[in-house]
Amino acid sequence: MPFVGASARTVETEIRVPVLLPYRLPHVYDYAASPDLGLRPGDYVRVPLGRREAIGVVWDGNAAGGASGADRTGKRPIRLKPVAERLETPAMPAELRAFVEWVAGYTMSAPGLVLRMTMSAPEALRPVMPAMGLRRAADKPHGRLTAKRQRVLDCLEKSGNLPLARKALAKQAGVGEAVLRGLLETGLLEATPMAEAAASAPFGKAKAVTLSSAQQAAAEALEADLDRNAFAVSLLDGVTGSGKTEVYFEALDHAVRQGKQVLVLLPEIALSAQWLERFEERFGQRPAVWHSGLGRATRRHTFRQVAEGKASVVVGARSALFLPFPKLGFLVVDEEHDPSYKQEDGVIYQARDMAIVRAKLGKLPIVLASATPSIETLRNATGGRYRRLHLPDRHAGADLPSVRLIDLRRDPPPRGHWLSPILQNAIRETLEKGEQAMLFLNRRGYAPLTLCRRCGYRFQCPACTAWLIAHKQAGRLLCHHCGYSEPMPATCPACGVEDTLVACGPGVERLKEEAAALFPQARTAVMTSDTAANPAAAAAIVRRMQEGEIDLLIGTQIMAKGHHFPALTLVGVVDADLGLAGGDLRAGEHCYQMLHQLAGRAGREARPGAAYLQTHLPEMPVMQALARGERDAFLEAEARGREAEGMPPFGRLAALILSGTEAAAVERYARLLSRVAPAGGGVHVLGPAPAPLAMLRGRHRFRLLVKAASGVPIQRILHRWLDPSPPPAGVKLQIDIDPYSFL
Ligand code: ADP
Ligand code: ZN
Repeated sequence: MPFVGASARTVETEIRVPVLLPYRLPHVYDYAASPDLGLRPGDYVRVPLGRREAIGVVWDGNAAGGASGADRTGKRPIRLKPVAERLETPAMPAELRAFVEWVAGYTMSAPGLVLRMTMSAPEALRPVMPAMGLRRAADKPHGRLTAKRQRVLDCLEKSGNLPLARKALAKQAGVGEAVLRGLLETGLLEATPMAEAAASAPFGKAKAVTLSSAQQAAAEALEADLDRNAFAVSLLDGVTGSGKTEVYFEALDHAVRQGKQVLVLLPEIALSAQWLERFEERFGQRPAVWHSGLGRATRRHTFRQVAEGKASVVVGARSALFLPFPKLGFLVVDEEHDPSYKQEDGVIYQARDMAIVRAKLGKLPIVLASATPSIETLRNATGGRYRRLHLPDRHAGADLPSVRLIDLRRDPPPRGHWLSPILQNAIRETLEKGEQAMLFLNRRGYAPLTLCRRCGYRFQCPACTAWLIAHKQAGRLLCHHCGYSEPMPATCPACGVEDTLVACGPGVERLKEEAAALFPQARTAVMTSDTAANPAAAAAIVRRMQEGEIDLLIGTQIMAKGHHFPALTLVGVVDADLGLAGGDLRAGEHCYQMLHQLAGRAGREARPGAAYLQTHLPEMPVMQALARGERDAFLEAEARGREAEGMPPFGRLAALILSGTEAAAVERYARLLSRVAPAGGGVHVLGPAPAPLAMLRGRHRFRLLVKAASGVPIQRILHRWLDPSPPPAGVKLQIDIDPYSFL
């Protein structure tokens, strides 16, 4: 409904319009607009803001904190600034506006900052100049033409006299653009807007797949949800390679045929070339892709296609949740347990959790898929809040890989090496059979620590509480937190003696050296965010692996995600204990998920696979569970441990991170908050304490942890506590609801 004229006493002919702007502002601002503009909530508008202009969204009546930028008491007339322009772009759907509000409330962020996440392609909010093409001018008589000019006219006639782009026409006719210019001058051709490119090809050249009966049952359950058009959460729980993707493809197809838009979230979309290929094979076209690495033109185009309802399937990273789908009808969160769904800066949110909220607001079904569901999700499934769809077996009867623990205390690698003899032999045998192997170590670079053998000096980041990581290939020492780097020196900066610096511990570069020495015939490659810095580079490595051009792939976790390598039969985990260090709340769970997923890369087709985990802690429950394949018992034990401690999902947590360049000021504020902290009513505040990463990017950091019983309205308590005591100048307060990182 358009806004009806508000208090006619203060504003005569204009109406008052609340506008939410994409900035850290406490509330919506009111502007004046002529009723003729016909503004409705959701319209994108250009408005003056201070001395600048900004693009905002016409907001709903009493939203976004309920306050108004201008005085609404009506006591004195105020001059509202006028809306400058309404942008010619589809209005933001009501569901997305409600989602913005919800996310802002939950994460305790300014609504404008959440709005900003929905406007990540600002250029898409403006109409484009239509691309111009050339066509034959009507009824223009002409005399004899040169052969080249004749060819141009023939080409146009062949294409039914539709306008063609200059470049394409020149190419088709085999002439230079000068010929086209000449024809334009004589008036035989004219420039005209190109017809808008046809909407994407009709969806549905589906490759026939015969689902197993378990797959069929799961797909039918999802299709029934789609037919009901109701909110429903399903957990698609099945071992790696059990065909979960096929199941949600089937449901997705059903949704698209109903005219709905579908969003699939993947944890590492930039690295998902295989997923995209598979999609294309199955449906005869590519889905729209959304992630932060896209170029401007692609962003703009995709945003527009989504907003106009033309993109039927979008696959994206967490930011895709904030796209303005007008008819979103189905959501998939693949690898729902993946920790990268948590966004750790700016607006801090858990994309899987927010996806569920979005589904609820939009009354649509959502599927969470995983071979190793999170404890949160499993609990909701066993509690009956989510439906569990189970795929117990690998497709076509492939066996799950055997998992074997290597006790590094009993079978250590030779001094200065990282592969134990057992793992060395396993790799050798695999390579001799002409099969592929993969070595996993979640550490980029050459060595995690460099020190001086003579004086003990250690290289540390000047801006962070962190050692500098040696990168031999680049000849530099790097901070993995802030990106600081310096050249690797030849002498110790402390004692000045030459050749005393030693690398301590392994990184993937060092592992590659060791592998090259042990298996000189093998073709090895390294896959990390250094060597696969962009989607194309990542796809190239994956393709070489798929086509058998690599025998031994060494890499970090970016290699673990989702890939299907038919000839890969051995996975070696160099340091299985790495994920357990630091001991945060979910360390055991995440370690299990990561290693299980890695092991699941092996033996996905006919040849059986094996995984070897090198560990100093073989008796730890997580290692035992991995070796025995006892996922549920392990997660159950983890859950009981958390329940006993009142930890999530049995209780609630919020973290406060205080930071500033001046340590004393940060600490003072931390102590102040602690003095006025809430107590009782099921709420405990722990800390303040210096954060484990006590300094990050030159800022000193303190943490407080708020622990509450489940059901406690933690946001309300935090508001009551923090609103009267805002941080002083120079100190920043970040609120992390449901924290995953404890650094
Ligand atoms: P998951 O997503 O559970 O890891 P996928 O869906 O990737 O499993 O399936 C594993 C492999 O089995 C893929 O190569 C997939 O194409 C194949 N596959 C799964 N289900 C079927 C089916 N019903 N018919 C043919 N191939 C299938
Ligand atoms: Zn640093």
